[in-house]
This record gives sequence, structure tokens and C-alpha cells, in this order.
Amino acid sequence: MGNRMLQFVQIPQQPPHKRDAAARRADFDEIYADFDTARARQQSSRCSQCGVPFCQIHCPLQNDIPDWLKLAAEGRLEEAYEVSSATNNFPEICGRICPQDRLCEGNCVIEKGFDSVTIGAVERFITDTAFVHGWVQVPSPRAENGLSVGIVGAGPGGLAAAEQLRRQGYAVHVYDRHDRVGGLLVYGIPGFKLEKRIVQRRHDLLVQAGIVFHLNTDIGRDVTLGALRVRHDSVLLATGVYRARDLGGPGAGLPGIVPALDYLIAANRRGLGDAVPEFDSGVLDAAGRDVVVIGGGDTAMDCVRTAVRQGARSVKCLYRRDRANMPGSQREVKNAEEEGVEFLWLSAPEAFLGDTAVTGVRAVRMHLGLPDASGRQGVEPLEGSHFTVPATLVIKALGFDPEDLPAAFSEPALAVTRWGTLKIDHRSFMTSLPGVFAAGDIVRGASLVVWAIRDGRDAAAQMHLLMQQNIQQTAPAAVAAE
Ligand code: FAD
Ligand code: SF4
Ligand code: SF4
Repeated sequence: MGNRMLQFVQIPQQPPHKRDAAARRADFDEIYADFDTARARQQSSRCSQCGVPFCQIHCPLQNDIPDWLKLAAEGRLEEAYEVSSATNNFPEICGRICPQDRLCEGNCVIEKGFDSVTIGAVERFITDTAFVHGWVQVPSPRAENGLSVGIVGAGPGGLAAAEQLRRQGYAVHVYDRHDRVGGLLVYGIPGFKLEKRIVQRRHDLLVQAGIVFHLNTDIGRDVTLGALRVRHDSVLLATGVYRARDLGGPGAGLPGIVPALDYLIAANRRGLGDAVPEFDSGVLDAAGRDVVVIGGGDTAMDCVRTAVRQGARSVKCLYRRDRANMPGSQREVKNAEEEGVEFLWLSAPEAFLGDTAVTGVRAVRMHLGLPDASGRQGVEPLEGSHFTVPATLVIKALGFDPEDLPAAFSEPALAVTRWGTLKIDHRSFMTSLPGVFAAGDIVRGASLVVWAIRDGRDAAAQMHLLMQQNIQQTAPAAVAAE
């Protein structure tokens, strides 16, 4: 049998079918179709099985990409699933929403002149296939170990840690202030990138494994962190970052100017069938309105594309830097443009116009200046370059910071960095409070799902290590006391 790999010369890159933009605008379903088995095998076979796989090096989970591509190319999908799931708790989620152009695929060095292997789409295909065939097992432990952990936050970081610790035999309790599991996977990221059923499927497995979810439970308000520390042998904080950065300037307080996450949560809840008074009253509904979204990250991209689907009259994105310097994924910008979004690069808002509600944004053109100490070019306004954009809904998507965490958790000794994120020992993942660990955005600042999974896994491993060491240290004393 000849080598099935290295087919990139004969076989061009063919990503999964992307739905037509007109059809996409009409619903909130995912925009990419599934690979079929033949296409997945064929696309996997393009991998040249690099000796030093840069794709793997640039994957935050260090996924064994060449191995699962080879197995997929050979049609050995169950084995491919085993390899893929060994390093990633939610490969089908990462396959859908990782910015692959900046991570694995952006670093695929197949050979100059050839497009990268479609790594994300194959990763998604392998696990979706595993679900269909029943290869995805409930992550139950072989035996209970008698210890218990409390995890605050049911986002990807908290869930990855919960699964890892449950497998080791811990009684795992996950607390979340929301009424659903998933964190930003459910209430931030829209269905056209990640359908909610994909997250629900994982939630179901975790419940079957015996993980107990305490929803509608805000730690700090409904239950104190102190109480959790008494209740559990270890606690993990994976609460994400939610304080929206704000805009100043004349008119910034006018009705019709709303924070991005309020807007996205309302849209996601609506899609899930919840009653959303602020949507029904029109405050958070873009239908028929001229929408301006301010910002250039993933959140801004999700807002513009949601507004298109809600039937906005026009949708514009105002970003102060240029396309090459935006933090969001280039792939998402392309998708947004196809769906009818207009980007106003190098433009910043100066004032918001209107008497009783916003009617427009006065903006100014910017130019890129000299790089600062971090190497990033600064931006400066171009004198006399003002212009006005009509807007009856302005969405602020300028990023997120942590809240005042020591105050929120009533733990003055909880140390934070100068950015307000939780300070941890980067080897042990422990915060300044003994037995309290932290992972995900609450430590990194706003980041990516794949990094939250990585942190959740690493923190779980450290928690396990420490709890086992504690048991070994206390065991002889217990025997002696008998
Ligand atoms: P979160 O997902 O934020 O979960 C934290 C959980 O903690 C939440 O459920 C919250 O309700 C709960 N919580 C908070 N405080 C408390 C408390 N006091 N008590 C109880 N529960 C609490 N990343 C990507 O990789 N790809 C993308 O395409 C992408 N798109 C994004 C789009 C948007 C709109 C946003 C906002 C982010 C996006 N991200 C994306 C980033 C990604 O969602 C986050 O990096 C990731 O979800 C962080 O995971 P986490 O587990 O740390 O926190
Ligand atoms: Fe690429 Fe993300 Fe999958 Fe890693 S987890 S291989 S970065 S899609
Ligand atoms: Fe295959 Fe590309 Fe990874 Fe090389 S870098 S092993 S070609 S996927």
C-alpha cells in the first residue's frame, strides 16, 4: 500500500461547504456544513507529516495533529478520536471556533505555495463522527476517591477542569450564576459559529458522569467563597471577565447605545426560546435599524453578524486601526463582509448625536503612528477628517476587564495583578488563598476558548497533585492516632 499522506500536490485545499451568504443572513444556524467521510479522508491526506509539526507547536493544547490526520486519512476514525480527545476535552468545539488562521492552520508549513491542511474542520469531523457512533464515553471515574472540589464558573475552563477531576474520582460541584451551562459558549458566541446543541451534548455527558451543577448560584452573593472553601477540599475559580470597557465623549449616555454582551446575551436567549423583555421592547433588537458596532475583536464581529441576521437596515463596524491590526479573526471579517457588513477601518468615534436617543456617530479618521514599547503601532486622529455615520443602535464592543475580585468574593487577601486578573503561581495554579486555584480568562484576561480548556486541564492536574500529596501527608498521622 502506498503512502496515503503527502497528497497536497495533487489535492487542493477544500474547506467544508460554506452556506451562501443570503441563506446565512436568514437564520442563526452554523455557516459551515459537515465534511463527509470521503472529503475528510482526502483533506487529511494532504498533511505532509512534518518532522517538526508547527501546527502542533502553535496549538495551545499541543494536539497531536499529524497523528490524527494520518488516522483520519486511513479511515481509522475511532482511533483518530482517541488521539484527538486525549489532549482536548471539547475538540468539536475548538474545531468550530478556534481562530485557526492564527493558530494551527496559520502555522501549517505544508510547503510554500500550497494552502494549509483544514485542521479545524477535520478535528470537528472526527468528534462529531464519534458522537454519531457512540464512541464518546461518559467521563465517569473508575472509583470515587472521597474528596470533593468546587468549581466556580461553567465556561470552557471550568468544564474542562470538572471533567478531568471527575475522571480521577472527585465529587465535582460546579457553580454558575447563569441558568445554563457553557459560559460564553452559550451566552456570548452566537449560534452561527457554534450551535447550542453542541454545548448541550457536552453538558448532558457531564451530568451523566455525576458532576453536580448548581445553576443560578452567584458565588459572592448567594454563597460566599469562604463557605465553598469549607465545603470542598479544593476550589477552582473560572469565572471569566465581564466588566465591559466603556466609551466616553459627548452623548455617550444616550439611549440606543448598548454594551455588546447585553446585546449578544439577549440575542442568544431569544434563540434559545427564553422571554427577553429588553428584546421584545426593541431596546436590544437591531431589526430595521442603522447599526454601528465599535470595536475590532471577536465580540464586535459577532455583534455585526447578529445584527445582519436580525434584519438591521445597515450594519457598519468602526475600528480605529486597520484590517491588518485588528484583534479579531480575518476569517470572521471575510464572513461578515460577505453577509453585507461595511467596515470603516482607521475610524474612531468622537461624539454621539441625538436628543432623546442616538441618531448618529461623529467619527474621525485615524492614522497609524510609531510603535510603542510593546511593538504595537499607536493611532492618532487626522485633523479635519470628521464624518458622521447615521446610527439608531450603537453597540460598544471594546473588550472586557475583570471586576474588583477581592471585593466580589469578599476575600481581601485574594491577590490580583495590575490588570485586575487573579494572580496565581504559574506552576501550581494556586491563588494567594490556600486551596483556591484559578484558570481561564479570569487569569489571562479576555482570551480564547482553547486557552481556557488548556488552563482548566492544567489547573485540574495541579489540584489533583496537591490533594493527593495532602492525603499522603495526613495518612500516617491518622493511622498513628488510631
Ligand atoms: P467564561 O466562558 O466567561 O465562563 C465563566 C462562567 O463563570 C460564566 O458562565 C459565568 O456566568 C460564571 N460566573 C462568573 N462569575 C460568577 C460568580 N461570581 N458566581 C458563579 N458563576 C460565575 N474564543 C474563541 O476561542 N473563539 C471565538 O470565536 C470566540 N468568540 C467570542 C465571542 C464573544 C462575544 C466573546 C465575549 C468571547 C469570545 N471568545 C472566543 C472568547 C472565549 O469565549 C473566552 O475566552 C472563554 O469563554 C473563556 O472561558 P472561561 O471558562 O475562562 O470563562
Ligand atoms: Fe487548531 Fe484549536 Fe484544534 Fe488546536 S484546538 S488543533 S488550535 S483548532
Ligand atoms: Fe501536517 Fe501542516 Fe501539521 Fe505539517 S504543519 S504536520 S503539513 S498539518
